[in-house]
Amino acid sequence: MAFIPPDSGKPVFRFAPSPNGRLHLGHALSALANEALAQKMGGRLLLRIEDIDLTRSRPEFVAGIVEDLDWLGIAFEPDVRRQSQHFDDYAAALGALQERGLVYPCFCSRQEIRAEVAAYEVETGRPWPLDPDGAPLYPGRCRGLEPREAIRRSTAGEPHVLRLDMAKALIASGKALSYAVFDADGAIRTVEARPERWGDVVLARKDVPTSYHLAVVVDDALQGVTHVVRGRDLEAATDIHVVLQHLLGLPTPLYHFHRLLLDEDGRKLAKSRQSESLAELRDSGVRPVDIRRQLAFASGAG
Ligand code: GLU
Repeated sequence: MAFIPPDSGKPVFRFAPSPNGRLHLGHALSALANEALAQKMGGRLLLRIEDIDLTRSRPEFVAGIVEDLDWLGIAFEPDVRRQSQHFDDYAAALGALQERGLVYPCFCSRQEIRAEVAAYEVETGRPWPLDPDGAPLYPGRCRGLEPREAIRRSTAGEPHVLRLDMAKALIASGKALSYAVFDADGAIRTVEARPERWGDVVLARKDVPTSYHLAVVVDDALQGVTHVVRGRDLEAATDIHVVLQHLLGLPTPLYHFHRLLLDEDGRKLAKSRQSESLAELRDSGVRPVDIRRQLAFASGAG
């Protein structure tokens, strides 16, 4: 597929939150890190709403994101991309991978995968390999399904996801994969990508015709993003993005992984754990300048 991103000649940064809750301090850190690095490098700053999960995304959270970023005083370009309006773009990318035989339908439920893994562990006494997020690698049951059988089951309406055949994908990419990481001083180092540690990742979910990995790669290319600034929690997943970029003929941006804010138990701040939202902090009298100072962005330093 031919992607022709707008070329302004300037570095392009983006902050890409998912609207399944109000923003918290961790998001503020990510948005401010993007702002600081964009300013330092004379770059553009885009906002992208990652709302492919139509069951969890809510319009009031989208409005809340805009309100909170505005309150923090971060100036994004007015054109905001909403992923839910671009499912066609992700379908086109998926189609290109399907045409090359790199994608297969998988009818296994999570419970079936868990049961298969547990049975293996009992039988062999050995632990099943996990991906970097701690989930079991997909055992591969549907990888070898007869194409005719796969078509029969999917046309019969059996729920399924679409997975990337990682072994085939790595052969198709044809070389060792790497990408460049930049630091706040602009120094760059090359990092090896090891997508095989993720196994056959999901590219389209049962209820959503894409996945985070596919949508983020397509959008970064379509928006001409040159510098991705994201938390260290997404560092390992970048390996998947790099292999997808290679397969789709898309450029690989430079990456910067910022620190994460942890709660008292040493866990990453998360909406699901009721971390205090920026809106609550604001209502309790905290000012944007306090947040910038607390996160060490007072002087615009990355
Ligand atoms: N939407 C993702 C999140 O909120 C981040 C996307 C990215 O930086 O690639 O965690």
